Amino acid sequence: MIDSIAALLLSAVAMTAIVGVRYLITSGLFAWLTSRVRPGLYDGLAPQIRSELKWSLLSAAIYGIPAGVVAWGWQAHEWTRIYTAVDAYPLWWLPASFLVYLFLHDTWFYWTHRWMHRRRVFELAHAVHHASRPPTAWAAMSFHPIEALTGAIVIPALVFLVPIHVAVLGLVLLTMTVMGITNHMGWEMFPRWLIHSPLGHHLITASHHQRHHELYRCNYGLYFRFWDHVCGTDRGLSVP
Ligand SMILES: [Zn+2]
Ligand SMILES: [Zn+2]
Repeated sequence: MIDSIAALLLSAVAMTAIVGVRYLITSGLFAWLTSRVRPGLYDGLAPQIRSELKWSLLSAAIYGIPAGVVAWGWQAHEWTRIYTAVDAYPLWWLPASFLVYLFLHDTWFYWTHRWMHRRRVFELAHAVHHASRPPTAWAAMSFHPIEALTGAIVIPALVFLVPIHVAVLGLVLLTMTVMGITNHMGWEMFPRWLIHSPLGHHLITASHHQRHHELYRCNYGLYFRFWDHVCGTDRGLSVP
């Protein structure tokens, strides 16, 4: 019993450290890239970046604890529908599960994000994120704990419901991390032809999310413009 509790706590602490270090390395990498590609873009933003770092590291614990509990349960008690044998499900499920996870996460994000733009909820839970004006590569996890909690429970809940190969889950987390950072870094890393292509019309990158930070009540999505299109909240792209 004591051993189980110790293993559970260790898993939660380890996952918090992993999420925190992952944030520092990947945000640091894209902040460095920004200093090379757009020199001076973050000039004068040092106090804001300190605040983004503080909120993001707090969010790392809020993301790390449920993830650590689920990782422990997966290892110790075979909780979750995460699988390791590639042929446990048909091969087409590997790419399909990747898209299903992104779509379900995007759906959850769109509706909770819209809810957080109701005036009272905004002041309480979402103003922290919008205090970044303009956001930087360090703002990816700059959330009030309430907002962090809404984001932190999605993937730990989905792994109980939708089967996913452990490597595909890794790819989902990588996509979440990279897009979370690059959507806030203040410049578009994808080529213009892709952004303005029929595919780009359905995908969210920095040009789309930057406009959310400029205009607030539009462009609420995370990965796809599907719900913004369906609900009439898409206001197109910022000038890259
Ligand atoms: Zn944002
Ligand atoms: Zn918002």
